[in-house]
Amino acid sequence: MNSNKWKIIIAIMALIVVFPSFGRAWESWNPAARWARGQTLKVCVENPPGDAETQGEFWEAVYEAIAEWNTAQNDPNIQGLTLEAVPVNDEIDINDPNDCDIDITWHNDYEESCEGGPPPVSIHIGYAGLNSRGITRVLKHELGHAEGLDHSAASEIMAENAFSSTNGAPSDPDLNSEDAFPVPNNDDKAGKKAMYGTAQRASQANGESDASRDDEENLWRYNYFLHALVVPEFWIPITEFTVSLSSNINLDDLTITQIPQGWEWALSKVGISGGRLGDDGGAPSPAYLRFWTSNTIFGVEPGQSVEFQISSTLPPRDVRELLRILPAMIPMSLV
Ligand SMILES: [Zn+2]
Repeated sequence: MNSNKWKIIIAIMALIVVFPSFGRAWESWNPAARWARGQTLKVCVENPPGDAETQGEFWEAVYEAIAEWNTAQNDPNIQGLTLEAVPVNDEIDINDPNDCDIDITWHNDYEESCEGGPPPVSIHIGYAGLNSRGITRVLKHELGHAEGLDHSAASEIMAENAFSSTNGAPSDPDLNSEDAFPVPNNDDKAGKKAMYGTAQRASQANGESDASRDDEENLWRYNYFLHALVVPEFWIPITEFTVSLSSNINLDDLTITQIPQGWEWALSKVGISGGRLGDDGGAPSPAYLRFWTSNTIFGVEPGQSVEFQISSTLPPRDVRELLRILPAMIPMSLV
């Protein structure tokens, strides 16, 4: 296990951190890994305080902070979360997980927090002394916690003293500053990637294959070698590997004779309709032989290689040939 993974595990274990401050409590509860990859989280927002103008500005602050994290997650390397603002009205029950995953409430005090526990995750915004820019900064930080990020000295937004001009908690002028807002950086994105995975394909792994005839057993042996590549920033072990096969391959045609410990496999066919393949007139849908492990302990670490072996009576040059379509093999890393 490399040091980055330890960092994340240590971060997840560091569940609650309370910081001294001068009048403003800047504390957090990290509900790490509560959410599922790709989930859309409903952020229930109580109506902000103040007159119509202030309310409008605070709503803008909410939307700006939400958009920031959503934009960061649009990075094609990250399959993160999507935040969706839901204004609270009479029909919304904040305590119903079907209505709210996260709730934002406004308080005339100096406390900023994000608390986990059973959903919803509660963000407490102490708006005393803050203008809309201060609200935006506080929300960016607390929404980062709500998504599962802990404090990180390498992050401008998630540092324990984020936005502060001193080593302590940020002052009201720090939070309300006209300076440009910091945006999620590589550290924030790496944290997301560790929790919610990556859609990166092929660049992290490649594969080889060969076939050999076993005359004694009267069958063919097909070997697939999956190599996890050492690529900076992509240190998550590979836990999924898919081989495309001809559409008319069936489960009976294959015997899995070697598979890494802790891995499972299944054959699936897409586009099945009415018991037929490809009956929409298009090309036959391929069959997919999918290997996966649901435990990252058994994943293939960068630099490692693993072997999968299949036997079949079908020869490579059969209409159901296996090797012809091997360039379509797609190593995937999905954690
Ligand atoms: Zn915090």
